[in-house]
Amino acid sequence: MPELPEVETVARGLRQTILGRRILSVTLGKTDFIDDPAALERHLPGRQIEAVERYGKFMLLRLSAAHSETRAAANGDAAPASLLVHLGMTGQIAPNPPGQPLEKHTHVCMLLDDGRELRYVDARRFGRIAYLTKALLAEELTGFGADPLEVSKEEFAQRICGRRARIKALLLDQTVLRGVGNIYADESLWRAKIHPARLGAGLSRKEAGTLRRVLQDILRKAIVLRGSSISDFLDAEGEPGEYQRHHRAYGREGNNCYRCKTPIRRAIVAGRSSYFCPKCQPSPRRFTMLPLPRGLKIMKEKDNAEARRMLRRGRSKRRSAAK
Ligand SMILES: [Zn+2]
Repeated sequence: MPELPEVETVARGLRQTILGRRILSVTLGKTDFIDDPAALERHLPGRQIEAVERYGKFMLLRLSAAHSETRAAANGDAAPASLLVHLGMTGQIAPNPPGQPLEKHTHVCMLLDDGRELRYVDARRFGRIAYLTKALLAEELTGFGADPLEVSKEEFAQRICGRRARIKALLLDQTVLRGVGNIYADESLWRAKIHPARLGAGLSRKEAGTLRRVLQDILRKAIVLRGSSISDFLDAEGEPGEYQRHHRAYGREGNNCYRCKTPIRRAIVAGRSSYFCPKCQPSPRRFTMLPLPRGLKIMKEKDNAEARRMLRRGRSKRRSAAK
């Protein structure tokens, strides 16, 4: 699932390509992931996209007041509003040039005033789209935790150190911090040398300070590299991210730790697969990790190079297809 860096990457891409455009019409495909499909068709046409913001793991397209001649204005719903876009597991949103054939699983098409179409494609439809008035948006945004890139040292410690939940669960909890998911939780815990199953309340202030610092470092670096592409994440330009090459724990079960050469292990913490180094990240007492699976294929550096080549090949293929 796209986390903060991936969503930020898509939001930045959209900011460069669709800001200021007006939506002329909306065509919907399957709508089971849309809050109120009729509201999209009724209220989006005539509105201008004034801002694209990231909030935790979703995006908000800020929309102008409705155009005066449209029906939306006539029925009294003309005030500025927002379109919430959550990419779920496989969602992609990007502008398409006029006449571009519809990709499979395209469920929302918004015709823009420059002839392009802003399309939302989602094979598994775990995403979510919602048209939100000011009041609905305020309701939607209550209960979220701090943005990890903006949270102060004091607030971070306060949100983590007083809690008797496991640190991995706290990092994933969107009411504690908004935007962190499984990948960046594991990566930051590895970097901070903190075992995912330790309790928030068991962390020293110093450890909490380190965790905040490395989490911010990792998220910033991942944004620069346009996020991690582990399954099929593509940004608004249809490009994969590159941060997966810098993963030090996530998905590396059986591979040697980059610090101490001990094989990375896996355990289920907070209901999720968690990757960690059993030596660098000492476990709490009575904690059991999963045995290394027999016949586990260890990725060698050679395979890593091969993965990079495949990534480049896929990209040039997409580029030539786009021409
Ligand atoms: Zn280690």
